[in-house]
Amino acid sequence: MDIDTLEDLAKELKNDENENVLALFEEYAKINNIKEEELEQILSKKYDCFKCESCDKFYCYDEYSFFDEKCIYCCDTDSDAEDEEY
Ligand SMILES: [Zn+2]
Repeated sequence: MDIDTLEDLAKELKNDENENVLALFEEYAKINNIKEEELEQILSKKYDCFKCESCDKFYCYDEYSFFDEKCIYCCDTDSDAEDEEY
């Protein structure tokens, strides 16, 4: 698939049919010479695309908990993975 803009990227990242969204994200950052942290911020601020720190997937605002920095699904399924920070 072709990803030309951040809007495209956000769309692809939130697409359930894409399996390796983290790779997409990393590749975009690399190609465009943006730090991953920076890219994450841009996506969350402008494109309604939030990275879950727990399952490494991307969600829109409605499916993401700022407080936990996780998607609502990870918050629901109790947190054994809580200590897996990186
Ligand atoms: Zn999650």
